[in-house]
Amino acid sequence: AIPLVVAITTAMGANNGILVRNRLALEAAREINTVIFDKTGTLTEGRFGVVGIETLDGIKPEDALALTAAVEGDSEHTIAQGIRRSAQQKGLQLPVVQDFEAIKGRGIHAKMSGHDVYVGGPRLLEMLTITLPESLSIFDQAASAKGQSVVHLVQDGKPLASLALADVVRPESHEAIRRLHEMGVQVAILTGDSQAVAKAVAGELGIDTYFAEVLPENKDQKVIELQKQGRRVAMVGDGVNDAPALTRADVGIAIGSGTDVAVESAGIILVKSNPLDVVKVIELSRASYRKMR
Ligand code: ADP
Ligand code: MG
Repeated sequence: AIPLVVAITTAMGANNGILVRNRLALEAAREINTVIFDKTGTLTEGRFGVVGIETLDGIKPEDALALTAAVEGDSEHTIAQGIRRSAQQKGLQLPVVQDFEAIKGRGIHAKMSGHDVYVGGPRLLEMLTITLPESLSIFDQAASAKGQSVVHLVQDGKPLASLALADVVRPESHEAIRRLHEMGVQVAILTGDSQAVAKAVAGELGIDTYFAEVLPENKDQKVIELQKQGRRVAMVGDGVNDAPALTRADVGIAIGSGTDVAVESAGIILVKSNPLDVVKVIELSRASYRKMR
């Protein structure tokens, strides 16, 4: 039988929009001393808009945006959605591209009348061994320092344009981090986005540790590293990419608005997608399981 205190705790959680998929996760939450947050879609809303475009060789920004949006095709990535939305809002006609191929944690590739076209972030440039020309590099650094995510449009190995996308930090993230610190819990950011963006968002939220440009298949390694240092780790995420880390963590917490894969990999789901509910999970667990001893 389920002990009464557990049943009550689970019900209290449900009333607060905290869904417990695995009772053991809720019990383990009382011992958490480190919380790792995914950035995009977790600490931030994950709703991007294009806020700047820098192009080379007199290419019109609208043309660069149209081609970028076409290459994003039906990619589900939040950055892709933001790019398509911005192109649509401007009423742009998109060129025809085919053979879409997602490159996990890096970007996307497609063909346009025989040309190879790529769109992606720092890890894509690294994969293609591309160094940005000065004007794009300056644009990239300035936007990244403001916490904007930058993706690049590359055709046949040559960068054509860089696009800056802004996302907003969820208003509740600030208080969530402050409360966790007050409770003596360490906080870290884990993201596939650039070092500069991770640093900017970490700075805005008062988080001292961030792991950036982490490929999807390496996210769970960061959890393991911290566990090896004796930390009890909760991972909070929303994306397909976060699933292995959610499974690996002592407590996996999925944001309710996230992907099905993330939700299925987590022991606890935050129905309201509110990072502050991470604090509630730990408080609820500490209060309830103390009573049981
Ligand atoms: P995150 O941890 O921020 O959710 P991902 O691992 O999904 O990030 O992606 C890491 C980075 O790879 C993104 O910040 C972006 O630069 C790039 N990227 C991935 N997929 C795409 C895409 N479809 N279009 C453009 N860039 C992408
Ligand atoms: Mg995410």
